[in-house]
Amino acid sequence: MIPTSAIHAAPADWAPTLKERARAGPTEPDRAALLEAFRAHSEFYARRIGGADWSGVPPLEKAEVANVPVDPAIDVQATRTSGTTGYQVTICNSTSEREFRRALLYRPQLFYALPDEVTQVVFVDGEGCASPSDPPKWFQYGGRVYQTWFCGVAADPGAIWQLLITLRPQLVRGIASGIVRFIESLAAPLKDIGVQIVGPGGEYLLPEWRDLITDAFRARVLDRYGSTETGALAWQCPHCDRYHANVDEILLEADPGGLLATPLFVSSQPLLRYRLGDVVAWDTRAADCVVQLPTLTITRARRDDWITDGQGRRLSPLGFQFEELPGLKAWRLHQQADGGLQLFFEAEAADSLREALAAALTAAVPGRPVELIEGLWKLERGGKFKRVSSDLSPATNPPR
Ligand SMILES: [Zn+2]
Repeated sequence: MIPTSAIHAAPADWAPTLKERARAGPTEPDRAALLEAFRAHSEFYARRIGGADWSGVPPLEKAEVANVPVDPAIDVQATRTSGTTGYQVTICNSTSEREFRRALLYRPQLFYALPDEVTQVVFVDGEGCASPSDPPKWFQYGGRVYQTWFCGVAADPGAIWQLLITLRPQLVRGIASGIVRFIESLAAPLKDIGVQIVGPGGEYLLPEWRDLITDAFRARVLDRYGSTETGALAWQCPHCDRYHANVDEILLEADPGGLLATPLFVSSQPLLRYRLGDVVAWDTRAADCVVQLPTLTITRARRDDWITDGQGRRLSPLGFQFEELPGLKAWRLHQQADGGLQLFFEAEAADSLREALAAALTAAVPGRPVELIEGLWKLERGGKFKRVSSDLSPATNPPR
């Protein structure tokens, strides 16, 4: 790829370079040179680009990612996406690209007021939870040392709470719905732990989630916006509150059909005009901020946990409280493409619960056919803690 990305600097220079560039503001990448680099990468891109200029190159859809060749000369690690949009794809990055993705993920912290030694707890996929006596992961970045412990979003809330009250982290990060689920299911206070900043990510942060997290931790919530395919796209700024986009590392186009992203640091399996499902708009007024990266607003996020009732009203996943029914062990709610609802559940005495569950579901989502299915649906798509999903198209049923 053309060497505009900071990945071509020594890893020790990544943080200072990303900080300096954020302050200086972006320079426009040479799109013709970028197209040349993509043509040189593979026959796949040479054919795809042909003689077109930048805007004439067809956007790369998610279903096409598997066809993008991977540079055989590069040591590549594969990651599966979480499948927020309905199915998973495998993304390949080299070791160095993975490390750079972390550097980009940590970029907002270059502007946080945090001590030189930061303790952080990160909510990740899974059921495991670190013990406070486990050794942390160490990471040096931007003049700070980060000591990190991980907890699974499906772990016992009591174990996560124990980790938090023992470590007293300044920073909590991780999967937004997992942090919400933890707060909802915990009957213990979090406000005195001393958490200064919560940085949720991985999912569109609903306003009610932001309020819940702010109130629970008495901490500042600074959201992050990214995707598994591209890495960190934008981050909420502690100075101006807006979302600064990492446009110096990922070329972003606010296409009305969905954001197009071209990561400039990826050369193993590069993505050219990759279409993410989110609709974003560039803010027209520049932020009055020390960070000079342009800011954007997400107007419609790709997500699959919006349930829409028969009147077209969108319902928050937080509104479903089926676990209050005695005897119910687990549940998962899915909305099919035709709008019908399937409630998968496990219970000690399933038959006696059916009626109450159906009544609760009909009351929560009026105007939709309801089907109750015993046995917990094992979601093949997505490892995140999500009890609610939908295949109902947001295009025909606009959210908000
Ligand atoms: Zn700012």
